[in-house]
Amino acid sequence: MTKPSRKGPILSLPQETAIALGTLRDRATGLFDPTVRLGVTGLARAGKTVFITALVHNLLHNGRLPFFRAQQSGRISRAYLAPQPDDSVPRFQYEDHVAALLEERQWPQSTRAVSELRLTIDYETASGWNRLFSPGRLSVDIIDYPGEWLLDLPLLSMTFADFSQQAVDLVKSPPRRELAREWLEHARTIQPSDPADETVARALAARYSAYLHACKADEKALSTLPPGRFLMPGDLEGSPALTFSPLVGDLEKHADKGSLQAMMERRFESYKALVVRPFFRDHFARLDRQIVLIDTLQALNAGAEAVIDLERALQAILECFRPGRTNFLSGLVSRRIDRVLIAATKADHLHHESHERLERLVEKLVARACQRIGSSGADMSVLALAAIRSTREGTAMKDGEELPVIMGTPIAGEKIGDKTFDGKTKTAIFPGDLPENPDSVFKLVESQSEHPESIRQGSLIPDLRFVRFRPPLLERTSDGLRLSLPHIRLDRALEFLIGDYLE
Ligand code: GDP
Repeated sequence: MTKPSRKGPILSLPQETAIALGTLRDRATGLFDPTVRLGVTGLARAGKTVFITALVHNLLHNGRLPFFRAQQSGRISRAYLAPQPDDSVPRFQYEDHVAALLEERQWPQSTRAVSELRLTIDYETASGWNRLFSPGRLSVDIIDYPGEWLLDLPLLSMTFADFSQQAVDLVKSPPRRELAREWLEHARTIQPSDPADETVARALAARYSAYLHACKADEKALSTLPPGRFLMPGDLEGSPALTFSPLVGDLEKHADKGSLQAMMERRFESYKALVVRPFFRDHFARLDRQIVLIDTLQALNAGAEAVIDLERALQAILECFRPGRTNFLSGLVSRRIDRVLIAATKADHLHHESHERLERLVEKLVARACQRIGSSGADMSVLALAAIRSTREGTAMKDGEELPVIMGTPIAGEKIGDKTFDGKTKTAIFPGDLPENPDSVFKLVESQSEHPESIRQGSLIPDLRFVRFRPPLLERTSDGLRLSLPHIRLDRALEFLIGDYLE
């Protein structure tokens, strides 16, 4: 395989100019109509859809948000949905998601592609002086996009040879090697210098894509999976830009025009041109604030490989937000995102005594990632939250001992031991505790990663019991109004993400 080499500029001059103009346009509009563009991302099923729905519902319905100061001090006079500014971006289907949650007590349909929603907040500024000048209206443009698309951004600085090398390196660890076996065996029978052939390209791409899908399966929970569109192809399904695969044989520096390598290289470049760059230009480069949701509990439950993978993904994601000239995206646009919140979701699966522990664990995860990429992490914050709290807390007696439990309605088909739940029965569960010191988890991860052959599937914290619950039943008040959606620390997330805009 040839040595990885840098290839050409990441964006062309007109593209850079388009981003710069777009930024200027956003800022000019923002002078008259203050706007914050809030990116919400995370890997598939991290909780983006639920987070946005809960955030908007709580703001529209005056939810309990004690740590969101503008709301708590009564300065928000009205919050409402307004037409979004970008006509070409699908609207976030807020009403459908609320209906699923409240009417059917079902979790809504997850994020499949980018979508947008504008929430406008009329408020009184905190300072009397500002009140004289400020219209007291903030538009929050919420941009929901798959984290897998973010993991594509590093492809911009890669050649096809880099991409192939990375794929080959990744399948060295045992769980991935097993999942990639069919693709790898097939790819080994093919020479990059073989003649370009559509059938061969399709068969290879299908196997590569099947491998990526298998990594994502619930019990594996592996995270690092470029190209992201192989998992969520959208309207590009079946197009040549999505019909390629890394090659494992020796690659030529300058492949023959009619060779399979040249065909794959062309398609890889098309993927970058048609998928990655437009995403970067039209969405990512225009964000002001960002929340990254991560499902740490699922990774802990899946085992060491999933945690290593999550760390790797987090590192790649944080690299995209890192200021400074050494970042592969820097120099393209003046940096806009000035605050990033990393949030561990679904904290309602734990008793509150473990919430701090979850936060410490994620802090450690983020600190390790920041250290590896040489970032100070100064503008980042970490939080453990549940956008929607599906459980209540209580205590239960077991063998004369008081145990902290969580109570909720497990989803039909969920299991504990040999008990399968029917989706109707309320149940109390002792969820188990996270370790007080996160180092013990990372020691376990490290000892397993030093000896890849010893990596085991299975929870890193075997005492934890993970059961998925149905969304909560919302009571109505005596005058028929529904209470707002319960949450854990959603208000702190809001304060960090937009609180200062409402001062
Ligand atoms: P997305 O792919 O990032 O949009 O993920 P979703 O928001 O659709 O969430 C995926 C699944 O995670 C949901 O169907 C729920 O089962 C679960 N989930 C997400 N957020 C929460 C939460 O705050 N609490 C609980 N208990 N489950 C959640």
